[in-house]
Amino acid sequence: MCDPTSLKIAVIGAGPGGYAAAFLAADLGMNVTLIDPELNPGGVCLYRGCIPSKALLHVAKLIEESEQAKNWGIDFARPHVDLARLRSWKEGVVKKLTGGLGILSKQRHVTYIQGRAAFENSGTLGVIKVDNTQTTLTFDRIIIATGSRPAIAPALKLDSPRLMDSTGALNLEDIPGSLLVVGGGYIGLELGSVYAALGTRVTVVEMLSGLLPGADRDLVLPLHKRLEKMFEAILLNTTVASLKEEKTGIRATFAGASIQDEGREKVFDRVLVSVGRKPNSEIAGLGVTQVKVTPRGFIEVSQQLRTGDPCLYAIGDVVGEPMLAHKAMHEGRTAVEAIAGRKVAFEPNAIPAVVFTDPEVAWAGLTETQAEKENREIKVAKFPWAASGRAVTLDRPEGMTKLLLDPHSQRVLGVGIVGSGAGELIAEGVLAIEMGALAKDVALTIHPHPTLSETVMNAAEVFFGTSTDIYRPKRG
Ligand SMILES: Cc1cc2nc3c(=O)[nH]c(=O)nc-3n(C[C@H](O)[C@H](O)[C@H](O)COP(=O)(O)OP(=O)(O)OC[C@H]3O[C@@H](n4cnc5c(N)ncnc54)[C@H](O)[C@@H]3O)c2cc1C
Repeated sequence: MCDPTSLKIAVIGAGPGGYAAAFLAADLGMNVTLIDPELNPGGVCLYRGCIPSKALLHVAKLIEESEQAKNWGIDFARPHVDLARLRSWKEGVVKKLTGGLGILSKQRHVTYIQGRAAFENSGTLGVIKVDNTQTTLTFDRIIIATGSRPAIAPALKLDSPRLMDSTGALNLEDIPGSLLVVGGGYIGLELGSVYAALGTRVTVVEMLSGLLPGADRDLVLPLHKRLEKMFEAILLNTTVASLKEEKTGIRATFAGASIQDEGREKVFDRVLVSVGRKPNSEIAGLGVTQVKVTPRGFIEVSQQLRTGDPCLYAIGDVVGEPMLAHKAMHEGRTAVEAIAGRKVAFEPNAIPAVVFTDPEVAWAGLTETQAEKENREIKVAKFPWAASGRAVTLDRPEGMTKLLLDPHSQRVLGVGIVGSGAGELIAEGVLAIEMGALAKDVALTIHPHPTLSETVMNAAEVFFGTSTDIYRPKRG
């Protein structure tokens, strides 16, 4: 192992991947410089991704629950939304967290440069600071953590203030009367849910046959049913052929087999395009290094996050799917440990995915769709939340927890959950997969009652046919 204290390293981009890498490197005694255009570390996740969206989704859930409270004998008046205060609360959350990261950076004596980095060679960066001054710095190792940005399809390009990407939607400039969300992935559904809760009539268009294309269909179904009530329309197998600015809004033209003539065109107050994200690999000067970039724009890396250039590492969204903050952070830590000479590799058995809609959808490890594709033999054990005491007390019985198991070893290979709080519950599934837990381990682990976490144990009991919370008539 090399002496990390002798290393001078730079991290380009201070998102979750970049700051995690920089902070760990500093903790290991390296001399660290972190470069990002923002005032403080945080990147997309904290400034215009995970954090502001979840703050707004919390508010959306509160509004929805206050409506649902009618069922429980509690009548709230229709809420009055003070948009300026809502916006400033959301911005306050972002400021608190990014400011906190700024303090953590200083405490670790990381040199934080607010600016944009370009390569002069594999070990040298030219940095243009926000005050337009320039500096040239040399390092032993550089970690590229430049993240990603919203992608926009050519048919959806339009120079209009009514057209938004996720960043624009999070700015909450107004509560439009109508909103077209192009793309039924997690970002579109999360932000669509926020606007719907605030009172906007939301239409979602998805070119594939179902929402959340990466998730198992049985997990998506309860969400789809609830969104059908919240949204004005969900158009599947449909594409937006064109967008045209008009006086009163943006006219969208739809194409798809299920579109009737009268529904072929519609004018919306605003349009949110959320059709995916593009890696930020077009870094100035990258061509002078030996870094290789795939045709989709991802930087190629090894399991140690090494690029084709011995001095350069890359992590996070810029190296590939899934584009998630927790994946970026773990990659960042792995890269730093590799630089420090430790024997490490980024080879997780499960990277959880969470969609923070209501209900939430979460999965980790193998999915049924993937198992089918790979012709892989599995057993699936499902526990419906209608049989969960806790889910019924919350008036949210539509959820479901399922385990995907190896039929021979009975090892947990995958976990899928849909329901309130699925994002918190999935962590137990990730641990089970990473620890190589067997169905027996999960079934015999005493879970507290009444909790939603019990449904994970209950699903394992379903696998053995020993669940006493549901009745399955004996076969034969
Ligand atoms: C609306 C939305 C919601 C999301 N919600 C979630 C969620 O709930 N959970 C989750 O896990 N993920 C979520 N994500 C995804 C998550 O934000 C990303 O996966 C994560 O931020 C990636 O981290 P990163 O470190 O790779 O880079 P990023 O966070 O993208 O940060 C990269 C940083 O590098 C900077 N940079 C780029 N080029 C240069 C340069 N040349 N010099 C200096 N700096 C540069 C950028 O300005 C940026 O600050 C969401 C994303 C969006 C858009």
